[in-house]
Amino acid sequence: MNYFSTRGQVEPIGFADAVMMGLADDGGLLLPVSIPAVADRLETWRQLDYPSLAFEVLRLFISTEDISDDELQTLVTRSYATFEHPEIAPVVPVGDIYVMELFHGPTLAFKDFALQLLGNLFEHILARRGQQLNIVGATSGDTGSAAIAGVRGKANISIFVMHPHNRVSPLQERQMTTVLDDNVHNIAIEGTFDDGQRIMKALFNDLAFKQDYSLGAVNSVNWARVAAQIVYYFWGAFRVQEATGAAAVQCSVPTGNFGDVFAGYLARRMGAPIANLVVATNENDILSRFFATGVYSRSTVVPTLSPSMDIQIASNFERYLYYAVGEDSERLRDLMAAFAEAGEISLSPAAPGCMDPGLRTGSCDTAATLSTIRGYHEAAGYILDPHTAVGVDVGARARKEAEVPLLCLATAHPAKFAAAVTEAIGEAARHPALDALTRLETRCEVLPATEAAVRSHITSNLA
Ligand SMILES: *Cc1c(COP(=O)(O)O)cnc(C)c1O
Repeated sequence: MNYFSTRGQVEPIGFADAVMMGLADDGGLLLPVSIPAVADRLETWRQLDYPSLAFEVLRLFISTEDISDDELQTLVTRSYATFEHPEIAPVVPVGDIYVMELFHGPTLAFKDFALQLLGNLFEHILARRGQQLNIVGATSGDTGSAAIAGVRGKANISIFVMHPHNRVSPLQERQMTTVLDDNVHNIAIEGTFDDGQRIMKALFNDLAFKQDYSLGAVNSVNWARVAAQIVYYFWGAFRVQEATGAAAVQCSVPTGNFGDVFAGYLARRMGAPIANLVVATNENDILSRFFATGVYSRSTVVPTLSPSMDIQIASNFERYLYYAVGEDSERLRDLMAAFAEAGEISLSPAAPGCMDPGLRTGSCDTAATLSTIRGYHEAAGYILDPHTAVGVDVGARARKEAEVPLLCLATAHPAKFAAAVTEAIGEAARHPALDALTRLETRCEVLPATEAAVRSHITSNLA
């Protein structure tokens, strides 16, 4: 399978090059040249365990020259061996819905599905090419730990993650700083998340430094992350079909960067038994506004109980937009330029593809998030994390055909968001891995929020 850029100015490249490129060189996002059709394989696929299904799905997107069958099998097995549940992504009935628990990976959030695989892919590709990769990132809390967990202990990779000193929750901080592998460098900068992003941009803009030190990023637009996430849409739909005998399911997905739900969109186009997908946002509702009106317009970010979805520009949305404008790269370039300039673009909702008939949408505010957590706890004894609650609330409202079962993606373990859960039900959820963090040794360097300080920390550690 080859990959091209949504903006049409990158020559087609293979999977390994796409993984290493991340963001396309022309500023666009990489997509496969075709979407495989798999309807004829569903009966075989539904018999498979999770790693075997992941192998079958990923095999369609990776040529054997890039990764042989044996190697891909090993990479997939290793990536999901770090999950603590034997089913990897258990699907459980909760009241009148089904919940797919995507939080059994090392950091208890769904990003582990993509980042555990991405770390192993990087290691494999770098070894073959005799290259090094030094990842530099800035986090406001949640994504840093999943990236660290993905590359800890891997050969030829180092990772430097900046977080704002004393401004992330103690639990999030410890999920990062208790990782003591030699290749992991936590930096607490004496500043804000924006300072971290500014420093990161400055380092990447110094092209000589970037090249000399083989700097790279693990951003949410990496194609491998989308590919890894396609797998569990098939998995989840099969499990609900087994439980209900339904011909198809509806999937509700709490959405921030549109990465997870875009994977679902591709799974549906490939032939997964998904009647429709629900794009669920919190009060930061740029996406639900777009799907309701055809207008994609930026506003300011408001903090919510579901912080991993507090996003105004959905970095993966361009992938969907490419299909929505009829696979016309020139038109897409114009739209993205207009958005960069004016912060707004408008497609007629009647335009073909703009509102895909397989998509529904809605948003959920703080009060509804809390009452959803409370309601499911009271009625079913199940604790939803606040991100999952957004998907459950919007999914339940967007669900028109009551007879089509609703599968809600649970993107984080509720113990990660103790304050919101306590506000909803008067007690926090617990998880032994998180309880254990307080007893573990930590390592972290506190630095001033300057480019010079971070740069010299990186160079001295890589010397
Ligand atoms: C990142 C994240 C999301 C949003 O996923 P996107 O792919 O950005 O849409 C939802 N829930 C949790 C817990 C997350 O960490």
